[in-house]
Amino acid sequence: MTDSATSILSGLDAIRPELEALYQHLHANPELSNQEVKSAALMAEGLRVAGFEVHENVGDSTGVVGVLRNGEGPVVLLRADMDALPVEEAEKVPYRSTARGTWEGRDVPVMHACGHDHHMTAMTGAARLLAAGKDAWQGTAVIVFQPAEEIVTGAAGMKDQVKQLVPHIDVALGQHVWPTAPGRVLTAAGPIMASVDGLHVRITGRGGHGSQPQNTVDPVVLAAHIVVRVQTIVSREVAPNQLAVITVGRLSAGMKGNIIPDSAEIEFNIRSYDEEVRAQMKQSLVRIIDAECAAAGEPATATYTWQTQSPVTHNDPDAAARVGAAFDAAFGDQHQALEPVAGSEDFGQIPDAYGAPYVFWFWGGFKEHDEAAARGTLITDVPSNHAPNFIPDMQPTIDAGVKALVVAATQWLGR
Ligand SMILES: [Zn+2]
Ligand SMILES: [Zn+2]
Repeated sequence: MTDSATSILSGLDAIRPELEALYQHLHANPELSNQEVKSAALMAEGLRVAGFEVHENVGDSTGVVGVLRNGEGPVVLLRADMDALPVEEAEKVPYRSTARGTWEGRDVPVMHACGHDHHMTAMTGAARLLAAGKDAWQGTAVIVFQPAEEIVTGAAGMKDQVKQLVPHIDVALGQHVWPTAPGRVLTAAGPIMASVDGLHVRITGRGGHGSQPQNTVDPVVLAAHIVVRVQTIVSREVAPNQLAVITVGRLSAGMKGNIIPDSAEIEFNIRSYDEEVRAQMKQSLVRIIDAECAAAGEPATATYTWQTQSPVTHNDPDAAARVGAAFDAAFGDQHQALEPVAGSEDFGQIPDAYGAPYVFWFWGGFKEHDEAAARGTLITDVPSNHAPNFIPDMQPTIDAGVKALVVAATQWLGR
């Protein structure tokens, strides 16, 4: 580990009890996407006490940005997300959440089932240590606490205002707690998480009596053709060595067998590891749907509503090599290679707004991982993110999360 990182991390022992208390409080008091009001206030307060310039309600929601200027040098943006999920927590820890919230009009249980409480805790620890250890680094640290990662709108909502507050960054860094052994960090260069796009299409035809198809333009037959024809995008248009997924997760039309309905609805989920493939699939979808509507005849039309949209998370090769070398020194054989994940993240959207490189990594929190892997029982014995028992061990997870952030940040900020 570099002298800078060692010096900054020497303050960890003193703040560990406070971080553990903060973690338990956040875990017991989770808040849903775009409702992270109390969490955001706590994060802002932590930054303010540490000496950061703090901006609250950044963007369209509860975003918090802290800036700490410490002389000439690189500008490093560190991001943590804050939202929890509508999941009922399993009984496992004394600081279990029994919180409830309102999601899409319904009363739901709320749990930090994706570990964003660990993200906030580790980031608070890193921010405090950077502020206390200013002699050991130089440059500017920008801390971003982001809302609404789970619905991939939080980064998009913040990016313009973050850019106004901080016109230039040299690199962005972020991390996610993961079902691997505690104290382990996983990195890779290039694409590490998939892009995701959700598309809702309403197909409008002309309804009528089931006995008189000649007077209708049947949206059911049209939708069926669309579902079959779009299968050729992945099988015939995308190169075989590319990851590409187009799933029709919803197809709905009609009320009754003797009525030809006016319209049909189709919902698509689209994933890839490459922005060109992503753009190609989206274009092909629209081309095929429009062409099928034309084939069905007047007045068949399609109305498109793009929903969830987030780019490929693509670690910059040079920046990832720099973080990887630092993790080798700091974590030894507990720094391992990350296999690309089919899930998605909106972390990349803020650095993308700058055209700046970024590195996103995963760190572990589950003692049972390695034995389960050896037994071949990972699926049953280690919870995945979003599961009701996805509750990482409090330690050494907090310590490792703080250490990873400081070690990575000082690759740019270190003296
Ligand atoms: Zn999640
Ligand atoms: Zn998450």
